[in-house]
Amino acid sequence: MGSISESWRRLSVGICGGGIGGMSAAIALRRSGHDVTIYEKHDFAGEVGASVSCAANGTRWLHEWNVDVAKGDPVVLKKLINRDWKTGEPVSVYDLDDYEERWGYVYNMFHRQYMHSMLKDTALQEQGEGVPAILKVNHSCEDINLETGTITFRNGVTARHDLIIGADGIGSVVRGIIGVQPEKTPSEQSCLHANVTTEEAVKLGFVDYSQDSALEYWGGQEGKWDKIVLSPCNGGKLLSYYCFFPRDKGDYSTQTWGGDDRPVEELLAPYPELDSHVLNHLKIGKEIRPWRLWVHNPYPYIHKNMVCLLGDAGHPMMPHQSQGACMGIEDAAALGILFSKKFFRGDIYEALAVYDQIRLPRATRVQAAAAKAAYNINERIGFSNNKNIATYKVEDEKKKLTIEEMNSYDMYQDIEEKLAARRGEKYQGKWMDGLPIGLELPNGVVIGA
Ligand SMILES: Cc1cc2nc3c(=O)[nH]c(=O)nc-3n(C[C@H](O)[C@H](O)[C@H](O)COP(=O)(O)OP(=O)(O)OC[C@H]3O[C@@H](n4cnc5c(N)ncnc54)[C@H](O)[C@@H]3O)c2cc1C
Repeated sequence: MGSISESWRRLSVGICGGGIGGMSAAIALRRSGHDVTIYEKHDFAGEVGASVSCAANGTRWLHEWNVDVAKGDPVVLKKLINRDWKTGEPVSVYDLDDYEERWGYVYNMFHRQYMHSMLKDTALQEQGEGVPAILKVNHSCEDINLETGTITFRNGVTARHDLIIGADGIGSVVRGIIGVQPEKTPSEQSCLHANVTTEEAVKLGFVDYSQDSALEYWGGQEGKWDKIVLSPCNGGKLLSYYCFFPRDKGDYSTQTWGGDDRPVEELLAPYPELDSHVLNHLKIGKEIRPWRLWVHNPYPYIHKNMVCLLGDAGHPMMPHQSQGACMGIEDAAALGILFSKKFFRGDIYEALAVYDQIRLPRATRVQAAAAKAAYNINERIGFSNNKNIATYKVEDEKKKLTIEEMNSYDMYQDIEEKLAARRGEKYQGKWMDGLPIGLELPNGVVIGA
């Protein structure tokens, strides 16, 4: 493929939604030479803390974009540990000791607000490649004219852009505007989130889980909705607990994130038999908030005319692969590459068609794997490689998602392959859909065989 395209042009880009995905897209597109404005419905005030993980497939883009990752104050994960529900003894452990060596990047656990600020700073600051993005808060997208690219906001303001990105989260308005109507059902599972400070837990003589630098799970074995997920963030000072249980023990499917705190009794009620060590932590849980869980079927497309969807707006997923944020970051990376001086020849429709073609299959594969891992932790990336444990069982060995598939993926190659096909050019690379031909995945599938 040629070097700098003759017909590359600078675009005016409007991003609806300034969350993790929207900020990532702003970084990627300013770096590719475009003028970016982010329109955010809220003003980012009053969010409660929670963790968000960023595996190597997300972390690699943070480094490529020169994001100051230290600002996110991450915990670098050393292990994934699945513990017995009642005793807390490890059942399945996936060691991440060689993770950076194998995949080139670490597995970070961030605090959501720290991660968001880190991305926002990179998008808006003077320093860095391209022109700083502009952020307009209290701009809620209401409508888009798909012929002219004019966005109308609830505050009466209108703005026209060459390229519009709907990064407005799971309840996306932009999604409806481009004609995608989600088929969705409330999950059979409910979730309450709680925060515990390591300082308080240690003062009370409880186990200091921060020492493990691990993403830890209690339960989650096949067929059970009950699961406790512990993720340390802020250098280990904060322990973020996601507590899952069957929906018939508490239904929060109509609640929104950011509602009032729930009483601790409500958090403890579903867990009479839980390991007492982790239960002690939950007893001192603060900021207990429900997390609404809906299962969305894959969408048929994620772009129309000059508008595309990104992150949860385009492929909302259950949290059980910890890949929601990473998929948003990957979407942003794809836009950055497609609209770069190397690949963009001035045709927005071509670029968005390829965006759809490469992002939808990969994100919906993770989406499906996340739904399966909701009731079977052996389907979770990492644990899906632990075939030697007594409780290991997956639905279909050939279809399970593995760490190799996630982290061997080369987006540049995937884009080159798809663009070449569209432009009638010959693709010379030895990759297929971004994976190296000949690579044998742990499920026995050989790429290109
Ligand atoms: C509690 C919690 C924990 C999570 N933990 C993990 C994890 O460990 N690992 C992981 O990978 N993922 C995790 N996720 C998922 C991850 O946070 C999301 O997948 C990711 O944030 C998606 O980013 P996004 O930008 O698409 O959406 P969001 O982060 O939801 O951002 C959407 C933004 O759009 C704004 N908006 C909405 N409507 C409009 C409108 N009409 N106009 C303008 N702006 C609008 C919203 O205010 C918001 O700022 C978690 C999610 C939650 C809620």
